[in-house]
Amino acid sequence: MIHPRLFLSRLHGLISLKLLAFVFAGLLCIPATAMEPKQIQAALDRAYEKYKGLKEGANADYIPVLAEVDSNIYGIALVTPDGKVYTAGDVKSEVSIQSISKVFTAAKVMEESGPDKIFNTIGADATGMRFNSIVSIEMSKQAFGGPEMNPLVNPGAIAATSMVKGNSRDDIFNSILSYYSDFAGRKLSVNEEVFKSESDTNQRNQAIGMLMYAYNYIEDNPMQATDIYTEQCSISVNAKDLATMAGTLANGGVNPVSKKTVLKPDNVPKLLAVMATAGLYDDSGKWLWRTGLPGKSGVGGGIIAVSPGNFGIAVISPPLDEAGNSVRAQKAIADISNALGGNPYAVMPMKQ
Ligand code: GLN
Repeated sequence: MIHPRLFLSRLHGLISLKLLAFVFAGLLCIPATAMEPKQIQAALDRAYEKYKGLKEGANADYIPVLAEVDSNIYGIALVTPDGKVYTAGDVKSEVSIQSISKVFTAAKVMEESGPDKIFNTIGADATGMRFNSIVSIEMSKQAFGGPEMNPLVNPGAIAATSMVKGNSRDDIFNSILSYYSDFAGRKLSVNEEVFKSESDTNQRNQAIGMLMYAYNYIEDNPMQATDIYTEQCSISVNAKDLATMAGTLANGGVNPVSKKTVLKPDNVPKLLAVMATAGLYDDSGKWLWRTGLPGKSGVGGGIIAVSPGNFGIAVISPPLDEAGNSVRAQKAIADISNALGGNPYAVMPMKQ
């Protein structure tokens, strides 16, 4: 029989070992799924508390209703490949998905027509310019023999939307909406007020659609493509929806909660590559430097990020920085991912 004092000291040893493992988990790059649920939850709670009072950035206002969205909305969600959902803060409030939609429309085109449909036309290179840059079109491959674009900036995204199959405008939009819903694992819907507000003020995107048509990136009906793109940007999501969408990409294309296959496993790394290249617009390099994670932001205040095989994470907080990326979301995701060893590039040398 083990002496009670010895038992207690062993127990104590075990507990502190666990604590040590937790503290160094980030440094040792233990994948999140190998970590205790409590440790994952603690990482979310810490980031939530740390940035709750942060007041930097401002809501987007070039789409008038976005300026009126409550700047205090702040929610974090993380979904692991085994379907566990972790949350902190406000994961009920919804914002418009905005540019995060671009990832899922690109995914749809890849599913329907194969990845080369995107790769050989729009491309997979960073433009290094703002998300709605017109100069980037003028300098691009088909306009000028210049560099390629990618489906995560407005010109490439509107072109990707134009490639979605369907018999009518409504048919195309409904198939996009139901595809996003499969990623989120629930039936999503459009925020009509946002759709109207952006439709009334999206002359710049209409010009982008027309230019993309002029340079043959869009085959037909550029105004319809811009209109559908605007509506897809107005789809309402909360942090949990976004984290489940990201979690599906972290899990090889199968929604880890509903277990539905949404995307072919082969298409996932290609999509993640484009997110790594261009997901946070002209700040994508900085983001990759800090986190190593493919991500995507939207001017509604959401950011998603994917640690392949480990987790999908999303944060919603409307105030944005100069590049158009949510300030709190960037900070919270970087902290959480780094605490959980989420950076796929960070490995320890093999013991010789
Ligand atoms: N709907 C917005 C636009 O086209 C999306 C931009 C974004 O989220 N960066 O301008």
